[in-house]
Amino acid sequence: MLHQRTLGKTISAAGVGLHSGEKVEITLRPASADSGICFRRIDCDPAQEIKAHANNVTDTRLGTTISQNNVSVMTVEHLLAAFAGLGIDNAYIDIHGPEIPIMDGSAASFILLVELAGIIEQSAPKKFLRIKKNVKVQEDDKFAEFKPFNGYRLSFKIEFEHPMIQDKLTEFSFDFSTLTFLNEISRARTFGFLKEIETLRANNLALGGSLDNAIVLDDYRILNQDGLRFEDELVRHKILDAIGDLYLMGHILVGEFNGYKSGHELNNKLIRKLYADESAWEEVEESEISDIPISYWTAALGKA
Ligand SMILES: [Zn+2]
Repeated sequence: MLHQRTLGKTISAAGVGLHSGEKVEITLRPASADSGICFRRIDCDPAQEIKAHANNVTDTRLGTTISQNNVSVMTVEHLLAAFAGLGIDNAYIDIHGPEIPIMDGSAASFILLVELAGIIEQSAPKKFLRIKKNVKVQEDDKFAEFKPFNGYRLSFKIEFEHPMIQDKLTEFSFDFSTLTFLNEISRARTFGFLKEIETLRANNLALGGSLDNAIVLDDYRILNQDGLRFEDELVRHKILDAIGDLYLMGHILVGEFNGYKSGHELNNKLIRKLYADESAWEEVEESEISDIPISYWTAALGKA
């Protein structure tokens, strides 16, 4: 049987918030079975819990922000992607401020942190969220959609009019049964365009952003001296973001996600549209989905 997972022990890390620019410490703690992922703002008195749930998403303009009782935590998606990729079902994340540290702009530091804490299996069976119907949200030419699929697969296509983002590098498909999150997705960094960063900075945002935690492009080239980690790192990061955003449903999907020029906003709208139709999805245990290819289980366990 596939079991739920949590951390082996409590572990802390420090970094800066991408937008606030402030130094912040996070502490990851084990949590009991069926409790899910829960953020705790311990700088509030009393501490405010913010459950990692798609219904708690309150802002998607600069990453995904979740809130409860008007207390927020920003930029949760990269940490959630790491949890999804390692199959962590239950954990507390204690934080002293309003933003998860950006680290190197990818999920790699969070993967390392979880590996240092260790992963333990709990007695409760692992649950999944199965997509039963096609659900799609579209805005202008952008879209995001779910489709039924016997596994977990995400495909993404981006489009930017930029000489460094050529056609052949704008599409990527990631299947948990044949590729590994750790090798193919977790190291892909967030990216931004210099022009937009200047506007954000003028509005007191992206204050913690630097070439150490983001890929930055001017009108012609990539400014990072070491270049890209993958030729198609940008679109791989969009898949990382989607894995993190979709993990706000609480479980790994049994289904397919396709995104075209999508982002945090459409990802959340898609989940809300799915939730609105109770016949479009169901929560299932492993025993109810024995037809899933075995390699998918291995990948979901993070062993592949
Ligand atoms: Zn991101």
